[in-house]
Amino acid sequence: MPRHSSRAYLIPHLLRTLFRPRVTVHYPYGPLSLTPAYRGEVICDIDACTGCGLCARDCPSRALKVERKPGGGVVMEHLYDRCSSCGQCEIGCRRGAISLAPSFVRGVQSRDSLVHRWEKQAENADATDVPADAPRTRRVSPGR
Ligand code: SF4
Ligand code: SF4
Repeated sequence: MPRHSSRAYLIPHLLRTLFRPRVTVHYPYGPLSLTPAYRGEVICDIDACTGCGLCARDCPSRALKVERKPGGGVVMEHLYDRCSSCGQCEIGCRRGAISLAPSFVRGVQSRDSLVHRWEKQAENADATDVPADAPRTRRVSPGR
């Protein structure tokens, strides 16, 4: 490309950019607004969870651990350092107990801090709705 034609492109582009409002954000020194469609943080409503384990079996990253306790209690762990925020767990849960929120997990200095844990005590549990050996849910592509 001749030199003058690249300048002819660059100079108007440069001037436009100089006078355009900034599009980047000053995060983390200023507020960050995420779109409602952003799906970054896995949230579990443990009271709605039956401990069926479908989400853990379907998770392509093995980022979920579900344990049923005697009497119907449930313990769920989510390992953020493995999660790819694909949303498969949200799609597969028959109880709507797991979802992805429009937020994200901030950086931490310890890997242990990336394990989030929810626990339901036995007396609140209703662990008989979905059998533990229920078939796998349909796998969908991460982008839906
Ligand atoms: S699929 Fe839903 S109900 Fe089953 S263990 Fe996961 S979150 Fe709980
Ligand atoms: S969003 Fe995807 S990778 Fe993360 S826990 Fe759910 S199924 Fe696993």
